[in-house]
Amino acid sequence: KSLVTLNNIKKVFFTDDVETHALNEINLSINKGEYLSITGPSGCGKSTLLSLLGLLDTSTAGTYQLAGHEASDLSRDERAKIRNKEIGFIFQAFNLISDLSVAENVELPLTYRSDITKSQRAEMVKDALEKVDMQHRANHFPSQLSGGQQQRVAVARAIAGNPSIILADEPTGNLDSKNAQVVMSLLDRLHDQGATICMVTHDPRSAARAGRTIEVFDGKIVSDQLTEKSQAVV
Ligand code: ADP
Ligand code: ADP
Repeated sequence: KSLVTLNNIKKVFFTDDVETHALNEINLSINKGEYLSITGPSGCGKSTLLSLLGLLDTSTAGTYQLAGHEASDLSRDERAKIRNKEIGFIFQAFNLISDLSVAENVELPLTYRSDITKSQRAEMVKDALEKVDMQHRANHFPSQLSGGQQQRVAVARAIAGNPSIILADEPTGNLDSKNAQVVMSLLDRLHDQGATICMVTHDPRSAARAGRTIEVFDGKIVSDQLTEKSQAVV
């Protein structure tokens, strides 16, 4: 069942007198439960694609359906509402808020949701921290954690609201190889438990963990391949 459908998506950036065609005729469908990696050289449009998928930006042309919503033609507020419910983000630089505790960081996106009560929030934060094995650090602050631990908290924040899809932008880009392994294993486990994941990565070893890899070049999808998971380098 298709969770995400992009049809003929184009994105043009207009800056002064320069037009940048960041995405051209992107057609992509992602099924529920898929683990997809997006690869390609710097500047090819990966981040732009992830921003559109995450409803952080809108396309210049084309249509986008996400989890039953017609997402291409929404106001900023409507986009934010769908984003808060349907999407979990993981960033390269963790993006935790330094003066909030671990638990408060995980709770923050949930506070924007009118469909969740305060006591439900507490339960969801606890569950998410347990899933990433960081419950013992709930009252710590980000600066008191290692990079790998901070990213595990960021993963908890992304999954706490039971999103339809997890979007990860170079999630291991700031980690040493040991912590990168831990975070990749965490994503593997979430996928095994049914999560849909879409991850931008430069790292071929990370890309090989996903069941499907698309390669973007010059704003176009130039290959779309199922990965043999057994070939993944461990
Ligand atoms: P990648 O993530 O693959 O490195 P991006 O999606 O960031 O690539 O960028 C694709 C192209 O769009 C690049 O040429 C980039 O310079 C341009 N671009 C990205 N964001 C903007 C923006 N906000 N304004 C103008 N041009 C942009
Ligand atoms: P890693 O090898 O994963 O990078 P670190 O050497 O950064 O780990 O941290 C090792 C342990 O020390 C971790 O459990 C972390 O929580 C703890 N730690 C790191 N920095 C601080 C800090 N500023 N205050 C308290 N504990 C810290």
